[in-house]
Formats: sequence, C-alpha cells, structure tokens
Amino acid sequence: MAGDVIRIEKELQLLKTIILSIAQAKDFHEALDICLRQICEITGWSYGEVWLLSQDNKTIYISNIYYGKHDELKEFYDESRQMIFTRETGLPGLVWKSGQPVWVKELSSDSRFIRAPLALQFNLKSALGIPIIVDNETVSVLVFFMFDADKDDVVVDLLLTIVAELGLFFKRWYLDERLRKVNRALRVLSDSNQAIIRATDELQLFNSICKIAVDSGGYRMALVAFAEHDEHKSIKIVAYAGFNKDYIEQLKLTWADTGVEGGISSRVIRTGKPFLVTNISNDPVFSQWREAAIHAGYGSAISFPLIINDNVIGVFNMYASEPDAFDTGEEKLLEELANDLAFGILSLRKAGENKRLQAQLFQAQKMEAIGQVASGIAHDFNNMLTAVIGYANILYGKLKENEPLKYNVEQILTASEKAAGLVQNLLTFGRKQDTGLTLLDLNKTIMNISGLLQKLLGDLVVYKTGLTSGQISIMGNKTHLEQVLMNLAGNANDAMPGGGILTISTDTIDIDEQFIKAHGYGRIGRFAAISVQDTGSGMNTMTIEKIYEPFFTTKPVGKGTGLGLSVVYGIVKQHKGYIDVTSAFGKGTTFNIYLPLV
Ligand code: ADP
Ligand code: MG
Repeated sequence: MAGDVIRIEKELQLLKTIILSIAQAKDFHEALDICLRQICEITGWSYGEVWLLSQDNKTIYISNIYYGKHDELKEFYDESRQMIFTRETGLPGLVWKSGQPVWVKELSSDSRFIRAPLALQFNLKSALGIPIIVDNETVSVLVFFMFDADKDDVVVDLLLTIVAELGLFFKRWYLDERLRKVNRALRVLSDSNQAIIRATDELQLFNSICKIAVDSGGYRMALVAFAEHDEHKSIKIVAYAGFNKDYIEQLKLTWADTGVEGGISSRVIRTGKPFLVTNISNDPVFSQWREAAIHAGYGSAISFPLIINDNVIGVFNMYASEPDAFDTGEEKLLEELANDLAFGILSLRKAGENKRLQAQLFQAQKMEAIGQVASGIAHDFNNMLTAVIGYANILYGKLKENEPLKYNVEQILTASEKAAGLVQNLLTFGRKQDTGLTLLDLNKTIMNISGLLQKLLGDLVVYKTGLTSGQISIMGNKTHLEQVLMNLAGNANDAMPGGGILTISTDTIDIDEQFIKAHGYGRIGRFAAISVQDTGSGMNTMTIEKIYEPFFTTKPVGKGTGLGLSVVYGIVKQHKGYIDVTSAFGKGTTFNIYLPLV
C-alpha cells in the first residue's frame, strides 16, 4: 500500500463501515459483536473474541466470539471460555492492564501467554489484543488469532487507529447499557410493588412477580423456590416464568451441605446472602448445570434470599441471556424487590393466621354457648327424669308379679334410663359435672383399656399402639379418659368399614409460642400428647367444623347419636387440655389431644 492519502481514505472507509453497522446494534453486547465480525471480515482474520470485565473488576471473561467458516475453532473457543483471566494474566489481561494494544507476532516464541500452546495446537500462529477504552478506562478487550504469523503491519496500524476512535462511539452504548439496566430493574420493582399490594394469595403473587420480571424486565427467566425441611432438604420451585421446561426438568436441587459445589439457590439459602453469577459459562457454581444452562440460553444469573423473621424460607432468582447482565445499581434494586416480596409473603401469612385465630375463637365461643344451653336443659331434664324414674319404680313395686301392666312399666324404666344416659353425656359436654381428678399414668390407662378397645373393633381393623417408654403422669379422671378412647376408637371403627389400622400413640411435648402461633391454641407448658389415628374415610372441612356439636352426626338414625365427640370435647376441657383433628376426605383422620403434665 502506498501513499498517505490512500491510507487515510482506507482508514475512513473502514471506520465508516464499522460505525454504520454498529449503529444497528440494539445494545452494548451486540455493538461489540458487530464490531468483532466487521474487523474479522475486513481483515480476513480467522478468529476473534470479545472480552468483558466482571462486575467486581477482578477478572475478564469471553462474552462473544467469531470464527467465521472455521468450525474447527469452536473447540478452541470451548476450551478458552473455561478460562478466566485476571488483570495481567494472558493476552486479554495484559491488554486490560496496559490499556495498550498487544501484538504477538509469533505465539511459538512468546512465553508470556497461557493460551499459546493451545492456540498452536489449532495452528493459530499470531494474536492481537486491542483495548476498547471509554473515559480512560478499559471496558472491553478485543482479541484476534490468525493462522499466519507474518501479518501486515500496515493493516494492524490501521486497525489500531480505528479502534481508538471507536471508544468514543462505544461510550454511548456503554452508558445506555447502564441506564437500560437500572430502568428495567426500576420497572420490575414498581410493577411488582403493585402486585404485592394487591395480592391475596401467595402462589398467585409469586407467579405474577416472575411474569413481571420476564415481561417488563426482559430477564430471560425468573423463579421462586422454597427451602423445604424434608429429609433431602430439597429446594422446591413454586413459581416461574420464561422457563425452559427441559432446563427445569433436569434440576435436582438441594440445600443440604453435600460437600460438592451446590447451585446458586443452595448457596443463597445456606448463607442468606445474594449471589451473582456474572458468567454461567465459567463460574464453578454452575458446573453441574453448565451445559443445560448454556443450551437454554442463560448467560448470567442472580439469586436473592427470601427472609422472613430471620429465616431464609426460599430464593428469588433471575436469569439473563447475556453474561454480566446485572450491575451494582440493578442488583440493589432487585434486592429491594426480593425484600418487598418477602414482606408481601409475611403480610399474606399474617392475614391468614388472623383469620384462623378468629375462626378458632369463634369455634370456642360457639362451643361454650352450646355447652351452656345443653347443660341448662340437661339439668332440668334430669330433675324431671328423676321424678319419672322414681314414680315408675314405686308403681313397679306396687304391681303384682303376674300383672300384665308390669311389662309397660318396665318399658318406661328402660326408656328413662336410656334418656338418663343421654343427659349424663350432655352434662359431661357442658362440664357442669364435678369430676375428681387423680394422679394417673396415661400409658397405663391406655394399656388397661386396650383389650376392650380391640373387642370393639371390627375383624378387619388392626389395633396398634405406640406409647412412650416410661410414665406419663397427669391429673385425670380414669373413667372419663377411657370414655374418650372408646368414643374415638368407635368413630374410627365406623370410618373403616372395609378394614384399616387404628393407632393410639403417646408422647410428651413442650407447647411454646411457636406451637401456639402455628395451631391457634394452647398455652405454654409441658403436655402429654395422645394421638388417635385411623386410615378410614376421613372428613371434609364442612364436617370437621361441626363434629364437636352435640347431636351432629353423619350416621344413619339409630347408628349415631352425635354425642360421642361432644363428650370427648367436654372431658378434654375438664382436664384443661386441647383437642384438634387433622383429616381430609379419603385420607384418614388423626385426633390429637394435649393434657397438662404433672
Ligand atoms: P356419632 O359417632 O354418633 O355420629 P360423634 O360425635 O362421635 O357422633 O361424631 C360426629 C361425626 O363426626 C360422625 O358422625 C362422623 O361424621 C364424624 N367423625 C368422627 N370421627 C370420625 C373419624 N374417625 N373418621 C371420620 N369421621 C368421623
Ligand atoms: Mg361416635
């Protein structure tokens, strides 16, 4: 090439071509990518890379590559992208540090570069690194490799001049990029806050937040996952948007400390701190999922803990297509979002808890009122029955042995005694009866009655006990407690017409504030716990709400009186204890009774 004029013309031509095509780019990454391609195409160089600085400015990594028709160089790239260079190491590191282009004419005779032996394996003989400088700072490094060693100095010179000019142009992209990130995070934050305020349901809230992150934030994928407290300490994904189904299906997540490097969610759950992966293609945290994540098109990821009352209950993760997508400003905003989300969950849970407490209070008051009425009636009725039974007895005594009317009086007496039994039950439910409580061992009480219980059960029902070793001392009324067990076992038996298992077990527990909060009843102290569990028909919620009410029964006339559980309830209250039931239709039933320990 000869003459300064030609040279300058060529320079301008090249600059114009590059700038015009870069102008089409939609972001900083694309601008860099186009620039890379243009240079390779114009110069005929075989292979080019764009290197970017990590968020913390400690390392530099490959974000884009170009290898034109040289498919064999893909392997070179695959090896290269595993490498992370620091400032000063490798060609990109050296260029980054010096802010100057570095021209390696003979890779074989230059020992400074880690990748030289690898490059030589692929017949790449020389390399060139050029910094892209914005406001006196290197923001990216372009690296080229060539098959032939003797590159034309003039072309290189030309290129260096041009790239120096480009810095100014890249500045716009660079600033745009920052603004765009903060903007998208802001958009997500404000849209999400609306969703949090309006939410009435946890799951629906998670789904809309994820959708907002993907739709208005432009993140490629977002998910909310919970840290389960099961034996595997699994991480359960509860909501997501933009998800690649294949990707999610191969995820097997746990937050257990297994010794091997877990994923981002696992790490965040264990540390309670946000975690950023600037580049999925080389971060060790992604080693298990790398291929799938790259395949699904994820470049970088960020995970935030969802913290409620100092407990990490789960994570909120976002994935972006490009590496290094989350900068500090954006990270702060998204962290705020994760905190708002945790607050939203807390509010929803509190509202739910209040509703439950109210329902519990209502139930207790209702039972109290029914108890008052029932025992009032029972008292009066009892007095009348005493008169009926008394006079019937007198009449019975007065009648001669062979008097036909004697049969009629006998009938009156049997019926009145049945009625008296019913009234007794009502009185027990209303707790208007005095019952002497004595010190007794609950396990012994259960053992003593086990034989009788077994007789009461159908042939197909298996009876099991799981009693704690040792004594469980409570103040109780033995006969009443036996009645409780009989009634519960009777109901369980009715619920298992086709057979099943009835299990009675005991334990001791500490009722603490957490228990009271979770169950909506209780008081602090040590309690005996009895559970009576069956594998029968179970109950739906409507039935559960009514079971303790006197005369509530779902059984046919003559089969049920609807007083069994009313009596159980009354007896438990007399013992200053608590009873609750967990059951679902078709899923069996468990009654739990808590009685204060001595
Ligand atoms: P009854 O047994 O006379 O019907 P209870 O007060 O003992 O009256 O029980 C009330 C209702 O509660 C029963 O009719 C039944 O619907 C339901 N129930 C109680 N225990 C169970 C159980 N173990 N499994 C399924 N349903 C039950
Ligand atoms: Mg019953």
